Amino acid sequence: MLSKKIILANWKMQLSYNETLNLTNELKIKLKNHKLKNVDIGLCADYLTIPELSKILKNTRIELGSQNVFWKEKGAYTGEISINNLKHFNVKFIIIGHSERRQNLLESDEMINKKIKLTLENGLIPVLCVGENLEERRKNKKDLVLIRQIKSALSGIKTKDIEKLIIAYEPIWSISTTKIKQKIETAEVEYTNKLIKQILLDTLFSENDNISMKKFEDKIRLIFGGSVDASNVANLIKQPHVHGVLIGGASLNTKSFINLINNII
Ligand code: PEP
Repeated sequence: MLSKKIILANWKMQLSYNETLNLTNELKIKLKNHKLKNVDIGLCADYLTIPELSKILKNTRIELGSQNVFWKEKGAYTGEISINNLKHFNVKFIIIGHSERRQNLLESDEMINKKIKLTLENGLIPVLCVGENLEERRKNKKDLVLIRQIKSALSGIKTKDIEKLIIAYEPIWSISTTKIKQKIETAEVEYTNKLIKQILLDTLFSENDNISMKKFEDKIRLIFGGSVDASNVANLIKQPHVHGVLIGGASLNTKSFINLINNII
């Protein structure tokens, strides 16, 4: 299993330009002398702040992430986000298929698949978000939703790409800003990530590829997102199939984000 834990902040559209820069500068100072050996930290900020954040984060251990990308490199695609421009600013992670985009912008499994492919072709790390809503869970359809989302997102992806991919399990009903929020048990997170590992084996692993099943499994990186904060992160991260966390609300101010990081390392 990979020893490094992944901590990704998803700032969504929650902060102004100045708030984003201030928060990044504060985090940079606080994390300067931190023993970050065992963690990878990424900040997925608003696009318009990325050029400035890339300057602030130069020569630090904090990586930049994007909250989306378009599936073509170039062309007549009004309003879209170019992967080449994200690369220009040293973006490393790209969140793809977040539930808020699936719901509000009708992002489909097919679009998500194309975005994952382009991201991998360009050597960046896709963070594929998957997860069921409350109704699907109540109807006992969670497993089917995850199978559909993962199989379609990864259709046509090569076995070796497993080392670049991160899957984030984010049940919609546990995200902090969801209307009817429910608390998820740590045991359910671990159970679900194990199920995701099985789906990845079924979808991506093939005996014919030059990699053993053990090596393939060791490269799988599964993170969890949904109201993670300083109080629950330690327990989550102890689970064998939780290799990191995606943080929304608790990453929006320096104190709560640093407290959370302190409880991981
Ligand atoms: C998210 O929506 O990606 C997320 C993790 O949000 P929160 O931590 O606020 O639940």
